[in-house]
Amino acid sequence: MGDRYFDTYPSFSRLTGAIALTSTGTFFDDGIPVQKLTSAVFQKLNLKMENAVWPVQIHSGTVHFTRNPGPVAGCDGVITDHDSLILLLRTADCVPVFMADTQGRFRGLIHAGWRGLRQHIVSHAAEFMKEKGVPCSELIVATGPSICRECYTVKDDVAQYFPDHIGLDDNQMTLDLQGIVRDQLLQSGIPGENILLTNRCTLCHTERYVSYRLNQTHNRLLSILRK
Ligand SMILES: [Zn+2]
Repeated sequence: MGDRYFDTYPSFSRLTGAIALTSTGTFFDDGIPVQKLTSAVFQKLNLKMENAVWPVQIHSGTVHFTRNPGPVAGCDGVITDHDSLILLLRTADCVPVFMADTQGRFRGLIHAGWRGLRQHIVSHAAEFMKEKGVPCSELIVATGPSICRECYTVKDDVAQYFPDHIGLDDNQMTLDLQGIVRDQLLQSGIPGENILLTNRCTLCHTERYVSYRLNQTHNRLLSILRK
């Protein structure tokens, strides 16, 4: 992979075989991660592209369950219990949220930006797992790199929705996306010790990640969750 980085999530390697990682690169076809990066990463990991499944990502609060590969329309999160499916997501500042249960049945990958979080997308994913019979104590969640609460300056149009997660930095309002993810999970009953938040920031560490806020990049961080 040459200059590409992989981050892996140790909390997932302890599970019944859920492996989560992120890598950076370029997507050329907006909305469909089928281009060079995905192919190269899949080749490196000995994964088959025909097993990939991904949400089309429309900044919604919707999560869909599927057992079929390919794009899933009208949503920003996909959950499956199909062993061979490989979940994909592409982000550049929003939070990739990885979920898996300790029995190795369900896996979910969620795109959480402010619009999706305003529509409680992480809560919806957690509630779906619960409805499927996953006890809260058996759901493990990790987040991938996103813009951090120091870097993410917002104005009233965004801040108004998140009064509990606004900070002040040089008289500018900042938003804590990862904190919102955590609180939606806690409110759904997921124990704090099952939630692993990363402190890696896409804008603090542009040598490693990509940030839409920085330069409106077409590059994306690729998140992968497989069994
Ligand atoms: Zn930062």
